[in-house]
Amino acid sequence: MADEGLVEDFHAQTTPERHIPHPIVFWDETLRDGEQTPGVHFTPGEKLRLATIMSEMGISVINAGIPVVSAEEAEAVRLVAHAGLKAKILAAARTVPGDVDAVARSGATHIAIFVAASNVHLRYKLKMTQDDVLRAATNSVRQAKDAGLHVAFVTEDTVRAPFDFVERLYNAVKEAGADRLVIADTVGIMTPVTFRWYLREFRRRIAPTDWSVHCHNDFGLATANALTALEEGVTSPHVCVNGLGERAGNTPLEELALCLEKVYGVDTGLDLSRIYELSRLVEQISGVPVSATKAVVGYNAFSHEAGIHTHGILAHTLTYEPVQPEVVGRQRRMILGKHTGKAALVEKLKERGMELPDPVLVDLLQRLKASAEKRSKSELEAFLQEYRMLFEQPGMSDADFWKLVDEMGLGAKAS
Ligand code: MN
Repeated sequence: MADEGLVEDFHAQTTPERHIPHPIVFWDETLRDGEQTPGVHFTPGEKLRLATIMSEMGISVINAGIPVVSAEEAEAVRLVAHAGLKAKILAAARTVPGDVDAVARSGATHIAIFVAASNVHLRYKLKMTQDDVLRAATNSVRQAKDAGLHVAFVTEDTVRAPFDFVERLYNAVKEAGADRLVIADTVGIMTPVTFRWYLREFRRRIAPTDWSVHCHNDFGLATANALTALEEGVTSPHVCVNGLGERAGNTPLEELALCLEKVYGVDTGLDLSRIYELSRLVEQISGVPVSATKAVVGYNAFSHEAGIHTHGILAHTLTYEPVQPEVVGRQRRMILGKHTGKAALVEKLKERGMELPDPVLVDLLQRLKASAEKRSKSELEAFLQEYRMLFEQPGMSDADFWKLVDEMGLGAKAS
């Protein structure tokens, strides 16, 4: 395979110090954190459809949701948990007995118990002391273990919490039986360098054997931070298809998987050929469009227009493509436009078995460029206008919200 040549060439001239765990336990959060993307809602049937593909692709753990959120959410978790998928089905719970109970009743074999850890969360959101949190966390872990669940313990905002508290808390839940420890960079403030320090310190103080990271993309560093975590021996990275999730989202599955396989040369155990199919389905069901320039799954990720680039690609795809599009189930696109060169034109004409003399080719090229430069932008502008309106206020419209309030007869009381 031509694309493997690149990785080997690169590895031949570097001696990367990497100890990527094998196997990597991919923990997908699309159905939980991904569904928390503003305006996104998945039906139970949609969750099952997505979970089925993820499981077939080789994702190890799928977070199906938080059963106590609603009756429909509980139904969704039940549906996914009872579908007989190869992936382990996980559901999430706060450190509240009713939440843990709901997970145990859902049929999920895995639970993620979460509570905030940083001072700002404890003081302003939970109004709990560190001792309160520690007590609630250990009680919930014991309750889940007694129910026979595989227990992952998660703190929100782990990296902004005082390290001494993190040490005390994680050692206590480990003692209480937690199977997997999750570190969350909830607001995405880590960099590969600071995260490396953090993870080494965490390992020194807590000595986790099975640990996991939840990275957010507020500064565009989620993938880089997740890779750093794997380099430090973290076994289970959280991912979301298309990088869906709260605010700027989570580590995109497609970026992390492809980078590991093609840049690091690591076997992820994932069927990469279904990545694009899964991405398109998530885009459709979530209603969140993928950016054109998004790595791996963006519309332009395997498109070429510029003359120098298409010429190179036609000579050898490795010139301007680090990976063949077929690897992720995609096709290369050659775009005709202002930047087109002669080589692309010659190639295009072959579709009709045509071979034109050079002067005619030059004439055709000039007409093509002129036409591209004159192309009206009005259609695209109208589309963008509509697109922006849809995303200015995702979720329920103001009109629908106030209608709901009025239907409950609340307006009269307030005034
Ligand atoms: Mn999150």
